[in-house]
Amino acid sequence: MKTSQKRSIILAAEIIHSMLHQHLLSERIIHLKPSATLKMAQLARDYKAMGRDVISLSLGEPDFDTPEHIKTFAKQALDDGYTKYTPVAGLPELREAICTKLQRDNALNYTPDQILVSNGAKQSISNLCNALLNPGDEIILFAPYWVSYYDIAQLVGARVVSIHATVDQDFKVSPQQLAQAITHKTKMLLFSSPCNPTGSVYSRKELAAFVEVLKEHPNIIIVSDEIYEYINFSKQHASIASFDEVYPQTVTVNGFSKGFAMTGWRLGYMAGPSWLIKACANNQGQCTSGANAFGQKAAAQALLADMGPTERMRQAFKKRRDLVIELLSQIDGMQCNEPQGAFYIFPNITAIYGKTDGTELIRNSEDFCKYILEEAHVALVPGSAFGNDDCFRLSYAASDQILQTAIRRIKTAVEKLK
Ligand code: PMP
Ligand code: GLU
Repeated sequence: MKTSQKRSIILAAEIIHSMLHQHLLSERIIHLKPSATLKMAQLARDYKAMGRDVISLSLGEPDFDTPEHIKTFAKQALDDGYTKYTPVAGLPELREAICTKLQRDNALNYTPDQILVSNGAKQSISNLCNALLNPGDEIILFAPYWVSYYDIAQLVGARVVSIHATVDQDFKVSPQQLAQAITHKTKMLLFSSPCNPTGSVYSRKELAAFVEVLKEHPNIIIVSDEIYEYINFSKQHASIASFDEVYPQTVTVNGFSKGFAMTGWRLGYMAGPSWLIKACANNQGQCTSGANAFGQKAAAQALLADMGPTERMRQAFKKRRDLVIELLSQIDGMQCNEPQGAFYIFPNITAIYGKTDGTELIRNSEDFCKYILEEAHVALVPGSAFGNDDCFRLSYAASDQILQTAIRRIKTAVEKLK
């Protein structure tokens, strides 16, 4: 029998097997959607493997490599024997370095027992949802929100309350909207600034207005996801935990994936009240233990070493942001804000809805992204995954040349829609 025939038989057997056993999956997992960002990135990889010339602007991942000096730290750490389990909360020297960083960059005072290092900031968020949310508890998200916030909250049975902000609001929620969304069941507020997927950045003044609302609700835990802190084009990054009134109820989440181009290292962390850090560490200790040892050792050094490469990446992203805005503005039907951070743009495309190329009707963001993938061979992510079906997300973590080609292709495809 030929190998291809054998493969087909195995595949058919697998499909039958999975149909017979689907019901064994837990309710929670049956209802869990795959991450839309990871799904689109995988689809683009699959298309490329089939020989299609696909440009992927779907994944939020710096296209830069980890800076050389950080790789050298990791190699040295391996040679020095950092190959064993670490304390669940993280290597003491990394937790010390994080405290130094938080004081230096954010004027935040923490001690190492208030820090938990995790397997990526994604795990920090998962730890927090597990530690805080009972089924039925409400979690407030500022929409557009990062895709996984919604699904992680759903996984623990919480009720998501989304507050919507449109492109005309620069995708920023007002304090009045926040006040209206709070109920006696609200347990947590979770938002990112700079924001994935909009690139919007809340200024210190805007955060101060939220503080006025939140200080009246000391039982609401504020989770401030600052993973794009170093990719900020506005004057200054502001941390909501630096307001004394809400410091005891705030957790700051951050990590190494974006600012240090270390996505594959899987290192994130949180800083917050020690009772909550302890509970999250307990959860992590049962699920995954401490993050990888040599990565932590290198990360501790990276935080206190030369920030030049991070600054150069920031400048490159800013130039690309300007390029992308200019190119997208030449496409009829796209309305953009001017993102002040991260490396995403989130254009509103409602003017395109109802149009067709004669075959495909564009009714929503998913139709649009499917059409662009098929017609222009560019992978984007539908806004619906981020709680806003009026838009799509484009990640501009790619070279100028790739961005120019991709947006030219998108323009040609959009011009076919009447
Ligand atoms: N928060 C936000 C807003 C993100 O965009 C991401 C995606 N990287 C994460 C958290 C998770 O990052 P990681 O797990 O790679 O540290
Ligand atoms: N956070 C990135 C994104 O939004 C990486 C992918 C993921 O972890 O979902 O694309």
